[in-house]
Amino acid sequence: MLVLDMPRDVSKAMMAKLIRFLELRGLGTKLVPHEDGFFLLLVSGSPSPKLKERLRSLSFVRRCVDASDPFPLASTSLIKGPRRIRVGDAVVVGGGVPVVMAGPCSVEGEEQIRRMARLVKEAGASVLRGGVFKPRTNPYSFQGLGLEGLRIMSEAAREEGIPIVTEVMEPSQVGVMYPYVDVFQVGTRNMYNYPLLKELGKGDKPVLLKRGMSATVDEWLQAAEYVLSEGNFNVMLCERGIRTFEARTRNTLDLNSVALIKRLSHLPVVVDPSHGTGRRDLVLPMSLAAVAAGADGLLIEVHENPSRAKSDGDQSITPSELTRLVGMVSVLSASLGRGSELALVG
Ligand code: PEP
Ligand code: MN
Repeated sequence: MLVLDMPRDVSKAMMAKLIRFLELRGLGTKLVPHEDGFFLLLVSGSPSPKLKERLRSLSFVRRCVDASDPFPLASTSLIKGPRRIRVGDAVVVGGGVPVVMAGPCSVEGEEQIRRMARLVKEAGASVLRGGVFKPRTNPYSFQGLGLEGLRIMSEAAREEGIPIVTEVMEPSQVGVMYPYVDVFQVGTRNMYNYPLLKELGKGDKPVLLKRGMSATVDEWLQAAEYVLSEGNFNVMLCERGIRTFEARTRNTLDLNSVALIKRLSHLPVVVDPSHGTGRRDLVLPMSLAAVAAGADGLLIEVHENPSRAKSDGDQSITPSELTRLVGMVSVLSASLGRGSELALVG
């Protein structure tokens, strides 16, 4: 796909003229604004070599890139990266240092999330996770505390001065959740929810896009492209394991995808070893493996009393295990030359 890269100061009239010119030649376009200008994607039809030359020579076209992947905005052919994404005021994902996001699978109550916010921060994690809208396999399972849970969680995190990541399930929730959320999590079941991805693309809040449990890397990157093509480039990909024939673990944590995405995309990659394994005893080794494979962050489920958790107790570690995990990640990260400060400020 051919992509024209244009500076911010191109006049609206000039842009409209160019789009009309291309349409008259049977070429469909998609205009995507970004921090530094505009990308004009030629999404349908194929421009002749002569036309390509003409487009390249236009004074207001900075670059004219032939992107071979079906996800030009997510790929490195257009943007080299690596992309650094600011989360809240003081955390950066993609800055070299792995960022640990930790907390309960579900927000269960005010006291619980207050204590967890404090414990997670004390353990050295930099972002608080917690679900309030829970996509459960069974309709009778705990469905989460909803918007009230989000208010409680956001308040608890604000008191501790750490940002939050929480799952959004449908487009209509984006607006109401927006003021409380630092990172919108899109769960594995919603990776294919294109109306949701488009809605998240219209804002600029970071999005943590989990891999569909049966999605290929290409499908996952095209899902990311849905968000980017609406103008939001703050997308982190999250590997959370895929379905395989293996039954001993809940999922198979595919770390190939982490190393692969580092080659294919400029977007940061976060790994969720909790859902990736479904077993708390595998969370530490797979966290270290994820960082060694190049992960920019980890998403870890933590509970003070895992056997009593309302969801995902089997894969939740305790706060003291989190402290140990963060310490080991820090040592590994430093030895890989990626720095050892867990929250990179800047
Ligand atoms: C979660 O993070 O609790 C969750 C529901 O994750 P996933 O969408 O990966 O199953
Ligand atoms: Mn969970």
